[in-house]
Order: sequence, then C-alpha cells, then structure tokens
Amino acid sequence: MAYAYDDQNIFAKILRGEIPNKTVLETEHTLAFEDIRPQAPVHVLVIPKGPYVTYDHFCEAASDAEIVDFSRAVAAVCKMMGVTADIGEGCRFISNAGEHGVQEVPHYHLHVLGGRWMGRMLAKAE
Ligand code: 5GP
Repeated sequence: MAYAYDDQNIFAKILRGEIPNKTVLETEHTLAFEDIRPQAPVHVLVIPKGPYVTYDHFCEAASDAEIVDFSRAVAAVCKMMGVTADIGEGCRFISNAGEHGVQEVPHYHLHVLGGRWMGRMLAKAE
C-alpha cells in the first residue's frame, strides 16, 4: 500500500502556522524546531515541509532538492546546537516509523538528541 499523508497531523499544523513552535532553523524545504517534551538538553525535530510520512517515504518520494536541503539543514542544526561529534560530544539521530517504530506523529521527522550521554541504542523491548 502506498503511503497516505494525513494533513491534520500536528506537524502539518505547525507548518501551516496554526500551532506555534520554537524554530531553530528554517530553509526553503525544511523546518527545525524544539521538541515540546524534550528528552535531552538538546532535542530538536527536523522536518521536511513536504507531505512525507516516514524516512523511507521521504527518501523514495522527495525531490533531490528537498533531500539535499533537509540533509544540509540537519548538519546546520547540529552545528548550531554544538552537538557535532568533532567539536562537540556527539548526538543521537532517531527517526521512528509506523507501529513497530512507535511513531506518534505521521509526518517524517528526525530527532536530534544531545547534551548528555544517550545510553545504548535500544532498550530491551518490554
Ligand atoms: P515520534 O514518537 O513520532 O517519533 O515523535 C513525535 C515527537 O513530537 C515527540 O517527541 C513529541 O514530544 C513531539 N511533539 C508532539 N506534539 C508536538 C507539538 O505540538 N510541538 C512540538 N514542538 N513537538 C511535539
């Protein structure tokens, strides 16, 4: 089944300006903003402005320009937040997808988490 995008999701509303956000960076195709329930001192969500549900959907359906813009925006956010692994102390990139990935908001987003040690990659499933 092809991905169906629900334009009533919370990030679509943020992109339309219907809900406020604490913007970290905005580019032509990408928005980065602070997570409302931060799980680390740095917790930024980076989203494409286009209607993509998951990372794989974005990779398959987005234009080259959108993918490049998004990737460069991620790099810029990491630099701005001081969490690059060269000068800073690194970070964790997470992108949840679908039911098993425990995705809450069905608009593709990359979590950038940093400012503390992140622990092992996966906790034991409960
Ligand atoms: P997911 O579980 O889908 O990977 O992550 C969704 C994230 O969106 C969660 O970390 C949650 O705190 C965040 N979030 C949910 N609603 C809002 C909102 O209205 N504003 C912001 N800034 N973040 C939100």
